[in-house]
Amino acid sequence: MHNDIASASSSGSGVRVLFLDHSAALGGAELYLLDLAPAFAPPGKVLLLEEGPFYEKLQAAGIPVEVIIAPETVRRVAREAGPGSALRAAPGLLGLAWRVARKARAFDLIYANSQKALIVGSLAARMARRPLVWNLHDVLSAAHFSRLNIRLAVTLANQSVRLVIANSEASREAFRQAGGRPPVVVVHNGFDVQRFAPKPPEQIVALRQALGLPPGPVVGLFSRLAPWKGQHVLLEALAQLPGVQALLVGEALFQDEQRYAQQLRERAAQDDLRGRVHFLGFREDVPLLLQLVDVVVHTSIAPEPFGRVIVEGMLARRPVVATRGGGAVEIVRDGETGLLVPPGDVQALAAAIRRLLDHPEQARQLAEAAYQDACMRFSIEATRRRVWHALTEVIP
Ligand code: UDP
Repeated sequence: MHNDIASASSSGSGVRVLFLDHSAALGGAELYLLDLAPAFAPPGKVLLLEEGPFYEKLQAAGIPVEVIIAPETVRRVAREAGPGSALRAAPGLLGLAWRVARKARAFDLIYANSQKALIVGSLAARMARRPLVWNLHDVLSAAHFSRLNIRLAVTLANQSVRLVIANSEASREAFRQAGGRPPVVVVHNGFDVQRFAPKPPEQIVALRQALGLPPGPVVGLFSRLAPWKGQHVLLEALAQLPGVQALLVGEALFQDEQRYAQQLRERAAQDDLRGRVHFLGFREDVPLLLQLVDVVVHTSIAPEPFGRVIVEGMLARRPVVATRGGGAVEIVRDGETGLLVPPGDVQALAAAIRRLLDHPEQARQLAEAAYQDACMRFSIEATRRRVWHALTEVIP
C-alpha cells in the first residue's frame, strides 16, 4: 500500500480506478471529478454514458476518457419513472452494464460518481467481479428525491457498494437515516486554490463593461436556476436593497427549472427590480466573475449536499452569505468565515447583505479569515489524498 499518492500513481502501481458518470454536463459532481481524476487517471479512466462538455474538459486535461452511449430506453426511464418504462429499459440496462463490465476488468474498482452511475455500476461490478465505490453527492431526503428514488439508491448501495464516499456529513447523515448500511467516509470537495487568485484589475473593468453593469454594489449567486436553489429569495431581498445589482450565474436544465427561470425573469422585470438583475446563463469564467462581485450569496432553501460555490467564494476572498443547513454549515463558521441566514428568510438575507455592504472593513476581515480557512480545509491535494487512502482500504 502506498502512502504517497504522487509516487504511487507515477510508478503505475497505484489503484486503477474506472470512474463512471452518467452525465457529460458540467454539474457540481462532474467539476469535482475533473479536479479529482488527474491523481488517478492514467492509469485510471473516466467512462461517461453520454457525450457533452464534460467529455471535452476531461480530454483537454489529459484524463483518459471514453463514452458508452446509454440506449434511449435507459435514458428515457429517468424522465418517465414508472413500471412500464423501467421494464422497457431492462434489456438496454443489462447490455450497457455488460459493456461497462468488459471495460472494468482492466481496473481494480468501479467508482460511481452519480446515482445513475450507481445503477449501472452495481450491475457491472457484479459482472466484472470488481468492488464498487459510490461517491454520494446528494442529500437523500424527501426535500430532494421521491421515496422510490431513495429506496432504489439505498437498496443498491446496501447490496453492492463496498464504500460510500459522501461529500458532506449532511449527505452521510441522510444516507444513514434512509437505511444505508455500507461504511461511509466523508470527503469534502477540494479546489485548485490558484484558480481563484485575484485577477488583474483591467480584466475586471473589462468584464464589468462587457456585462453592461452600471456603477454600484453587485452581489453574485452562482447556481443552476432551480426552485430549491432559491434565486427567488434573493430577488425579494434585492427589492429591499435599492441600488444593489445581482448576477444570476447558471442556467436552467430541466423542464420545471425552465418554468422557474421564466418566473424569475418576470419578477426581475417588475419596476422595483428592473435593470438590477443580470441573468448570465452558464459561465466558464466563474473565478473571474467572483472577483467582480462585492458579496457572494448562496440561497438554497433545501439542505445543500455540499455547496461548492460557497468555498469558491471564500477562495476568491469574497464575503459570503449562505443559508444554514446541509453542507453549508460544515463550510462556514457563522460570523467568523461568513454569514449564515435561515433558508427562505428574505429579511435575514437582505440584512446580511446590507451589513456586508455597509461595513466593508468588517466584510474584508471576514473574507480574509474565510480565505485562510478554505485554503487549509478544501485544497484539492487534501481531497485527492483522502480519496486515495479510502480506495486503498477497498483494494486488498
Ligand atoms: N458553475 C459554473 N458555471 C455556472 C454556474 C455554476 O461553472 O454558470 C459551477 C460552480 O462554480 C460550482 C458548480 O458549478 O463549482 C456548482 O456546484 P454546487 O456544489 O454549488 O451546486 P450543484 O450544481 O452541484 O448542486
